[in-house]
Amino acid sequence: MKICRYDDGRLGLVEGDTVYDVSSVKDRLPRLEWPVPPGDLLIERLDELKPALLAAKANAPTRKLGEVRLLSPVATPAKVIAAPLNYHAHVDESLADAQIHNNVHVAHYEGFKSPVAKFGVFLKSAQSVVGAGEGVRIAFPGRRNDHEVELAVVIGRQGKDIPARDAMSYIAGYCIGLDMTVRGTEDRSYRKSADTYTVLGPYLVTADEVSDPGNLGFSIQVNGEMRQNANTRDLITGIAELIEIASHVYTLYPGDVIMTGTPEGVGTVQPGDVMHARIEGIGTMDVAVRG
Ligand code: MN
Repeated sequence: MKICRYDDGRLGLVEGDTVYDVSSVKDRLPRLEWPVPPGDLLIERLDELKPALLAAKANAPTRKLGEVRLLSPVATPAKVIAAPLNYHAHVDESLADAQIHNNVHVAHYEGFKSPVAKFGVFLKSAQSVVGAGEGVRIAFPGRRNDHEVELAVVIGRQGKDIPARDAMSYIAGYCIGLDMTVRGTEDRSYRKSADTYTVLGPYLVTADEVSDPGNLGFSIQVNGEMRQNANTRDLITGIAELIEIASHVYTLYPGDVIMTGTPEGVGTVQPGDVMHARIEGIGTMDVAVRG
């Protein structure tokens, strides 16, 4: 099942290039009273709402996917967790480029089995999340604002201290993630958390439709020029282990997002550019950059 949010917050099922408006299903979500629990209500109830979503599709008005303004498929993530330096070739390019490492996040990890083992994971502001149709607004004009295309994992149920062997059962689905980053000396949580610096889309593909998330080709082009082209089989720390490591410190909630890390080829974008991102088995999205 492919689930999108679009236009003024409508809920859609995507099949091919058709969006079925199943917004009526939103009425089944509980009315909350303060203090509201963390997490995303729709993602939390996705399994139980699947029959209602399919039923609503039968009489649903339709739109073309290319004609709607796509929002983030996760409306209210409680947090966005991200993995640093999780592809060997990106570790190498980071070591070679002072603009990337800035002598702060130097990627030496001798004595540790992986960069994640040394550096852990980090957080991006949950409010930095936008959908493909909203685009990226450059927050640091004149500096190097880079694209990082990544497989984004969306957590489906609450968990803490999740062992890797159980981790995949906590996943609601997947989408394309752009971990936009300004290079510089500031902390990652500052450089990667500007409004619009986390793009999720084009929609959520439920986990049952992705047979092997550890073997997906993915890429990003900028104005038609290929920048990053890789496969998730080259992740240093895999998805299940990332969930184990993240849930050791954070309780994971439905709708939490894990950005699994970017491969080699990161590069800058300018206002006016259009990024075209693709993940095999998930889809493609065009994301505009503005000033
Ligand atoms: Mn990243």
